Amino acid sequence: MEMYEGKAKKMIPLDEAKLIMEFKDDATAFNGVKKAQFKGKGVYNAQISVKLFKLLEEKGIRTHFIGIAGENKLIVERLEMFPLEVVVRNIVAGSLKKRLPFKEGHELEEPIVELYYKNDALGDPMINYYHAKSLGVSEEEIKEMERIALKVNEILKEFFKERGILLVDFKLEFGKNSKGEIVLADEISPDTCRFWDAETKKSLDKDVFRFDKGDLISAYEEIYRRISE
Ligand code: ADP
Ligand code: UDP
Repeated sequence: MEMYEGKAKKMIPLDEAKLIMEFKDDATAFNGVKKAQFKGKGVYNAQISVKLFKLLEEKGIRTHFIGIAGENKLIVERLEMFPLEVVVRNIVAGSLKKRLPFKEGHELEEPIVELYYKNDALGDPMINYYHAKSLGVSEEEIKEMERIALKVNEILKEFFKERGILLVDFKLEFGKNSKGEIVLADEISPDTCRFWDAETKKSLDKDVFRFDKGDLISAYEEIYRRISE
């Protein structure tokens, strides 16, 4: 495998079984239409991902995290990725407002899990089990990813609640390892989660960039600070 440079990270092969995941300072939103750079974002996202992967591992979730290779670099297990994004939602925000008659901030009775096809050219469309099957992902595999995603939600929701933060929604990606096991991959950071301050409901995530809500780095720093306490 060659080195892969994506929108937010570089994936650099280390050996047969491992990759270096290097977090960049680049930010993109609205399917790459809006672009900017924030000095230090890569380091915060890497460090926040490390904390959360470690927490999840402690709670019995299998993740690709192996170790740290630098302040913005993680060593991860090399996986065959599913071309899917699994989104879990607790509170209405973002694109859910276009699908359900609830206002921003409405607390859902039960978490909602959604599947998207990771394809920039198509604008990451929402898909169902039938679409996924046509892409080579079985119903069993999706059920397993959804089960893990809901468990991750329970762990993270509680962890952030104790730190005065509401976990509004987030996106996960999964891959398969050489043993055929489904493993949680990619990153878990303010780029891929919506975090609101529980008191003020202020965004502490990429919405700061999407909707020009203030200083992105101080928001990411605030998340890092609260999870490090
Ligand atoms: P994008 O590809 O959407 O621009 P990134 O810049 O975040 O996104 O690039 C990271 C890429 O690496 C993504 O395509 C992601 O699916 C992939 N990836 C994440 N974890 C692993 C892993 N453990 N093994 C192989 N690929 C991975
Ligand atoms: N998300 C992501 N990558 C994507 C799309 C969504 O990390 O390509 C995350 C996003 O940060 C939010 C959640 O998934 O935490 C739900 O996003 P939504 O569907 O509301 O879309 P968006 O606001 O990105 O248009």
